[in-house]
Amino acid sequence: MSQQTSTTGEADLSIDADWSELYIDGEWRAAESGELSDVENPATREVVAEVPKGGEADVDAAYEAAAAAQEEWANTTPDERARVVRTVAQLLEEYEDEICDLLAIESGGTKPRQAIEHGGAVTFVHDAASFAFRMSGRHNQSKIPGKENIVQREPVGTVGVISPWNVPMKLSIRAVAPAIATGNTVVLKPAGETPITGGLLIAKLFDMAGLPDGVLNVVTGPGSTAGDRTAAHPESDVIAFTGSTEVGRLVGQNAVDHFALPALELGGNNPHVVLEDADLDDAVDAGVFGSFWNQGQVCISINRHLVHESIYDEYAERLAERAAELPIGDPLDDDVVIGPIINEAQRDEMLEYVEQTIEEGATLETGGDHDGLFVEPTVLTDVTNDMTAACNEHFGPIAPIVPFSSDEEAIELANTSEYGLAGSVHSADRGRARDVADQIEVGMMHVNDQTVNVEPHVPFGGKKDSGMGRYNGDWILEEFTEVKWTSVQRESRDYPF
Ligand code: NAD
Repeated sequence: MSQQTSTTGEADLSIDADWSELYIDGEWRAAESGELSDVENPATREVVAEVPKGGEADVDAAYEAAAAAQEEWANTTPDERARVVRTVAQLLEEYEDEICDLLAIESGGTKPRQAIEHGGAVTFVHDAASFAFRMSGRHNQSKIPGKENIVQREPVGTVGVISPWNVPMKLSIRAVAPAIATGNTVVLKPAGETPITGGLLIAKLFDMAGLPDGVLNVVTGPGSTAGDRTAAHPESDVIAFTGSTEVGRLVGQNAVDHFALPALELGGNNPHVVLEDADLDDAVDAGVFGSFWNQGQVCISINRHLVHESIYDEYAERLAERAAELPIGDPLDDDVVIGPIINEAQRDEMLEYVEQTIEEGATLETGGDHDGLFVEPTVLTDVTNDMTAACNEHFGPIAPIVPFSSDEEAIELANTSEYGLAGSVHSADRGRARDVADQIEVGMMHVNDQTVNVEPHVPFGGKKDSGMGRYNGDWILEEFTEVKWTSVQRESRDYPF
């Protein structure tokens, strides 16, 4: 039974709403274990909600409901599927204030992140609604006389979605909305840190939009149990995973074990390359945003600044000045840019990276300290590409700056990483920048900009250990549908025997 059944009623989407039930087969129900987990506000460290601690039995029930609902959902008209998805986009807009507060309270998202995450989710969902009408097939010639070849595009069946905590709503909905629009059913397992904005909120919105029972099922719970079962369940046909490379490798193996397609969006170590002829104002502006948006907790954030030796000192000085000025505090405060790190483990890891990098010979220009979960924006100079903060994905507000002396060296440094997600390059000569961009081994490259770019209609994804497959636009449509060849013999065929 729906908690909310109409889009016109005033739904409670605040942190004080009831978030204690899973959403399975259109019903809100307790986890099989009856257990609940606390949700903590990383800015205040207060427990702000309780969510169900789902496990394997709940995931099994979710897949059972998803499998049972799939055929009927796939047989609805594109118009019907598009209408539900469009309604979710409208609800996202209608409840913008409540949703942005949730993003701040649950995951430390400051105003600049709330705006980009919420606005991005709205455009992604609007775009996904059009997918219902974009499942085009084709008609091919045949080498056999009198034969007609028809290639149809069909939903894959059931999609398992496993999402991270750093941009939780958008990274869940970018998979859920296109999967549903293309006639699939879904089991969503959000991250343990963000069960509401990454999962239960999305269930509420689709429920309010009138999605039929079983089409979307949301199970909150630990990665090692609920997550593992989501990836390993034989009923899933695609596993859309966004998270770390380490977990992605396990998830991919689990998916392949039952021949589900792994769609993996993983970690990154993204270079921001500044050539000596770059406009320094633009390069620094881009560097500040790309390193410090969402406290650097972004797979596509700038992990390393590679700067030509002739402008190195000036770039470093300006970046450090700007970093030191960024307001730190509670994300509910409109002026704050740097909110809290999601949890202690993440904070401790990034601070250790900074400490080790200084021990290895780097100079701390600004930052390096913390207050609770608030880590100061940190700029490090005299860094080499193999120092700890440069060669690891630090996932924090940390900007190690590495010098280089030629375009060739910049390209080599940029490519010396197991990751290949995103990159950026600045130069006054756009042709030269394009030449450099073409040689950097990443899935997404930006000239005279920074690395944090996402658009609903262009491909998003990485090379090397940054993943497999591409999200967004026609590329996600490919992953969530499969083609079927049907041939029709219109006249008697002449067989050889
Ligand atoms: P994570 O890999 O720890 O967790 C991601 C999800 O996997 C969570 O829902 C978690 O509960 C689940 N999980 C954990 N163990 C599991 C298991 N054994 N089986 C199945 N699921 C399991 O990642 P995170 O800490 O939430 O997010 C940060 C990482 O995600 C970073 O490495 C970042 O670069 C990456 N990321 C990538 C993208 C991208 O699009 N490429 C976007 C955002 C984040």
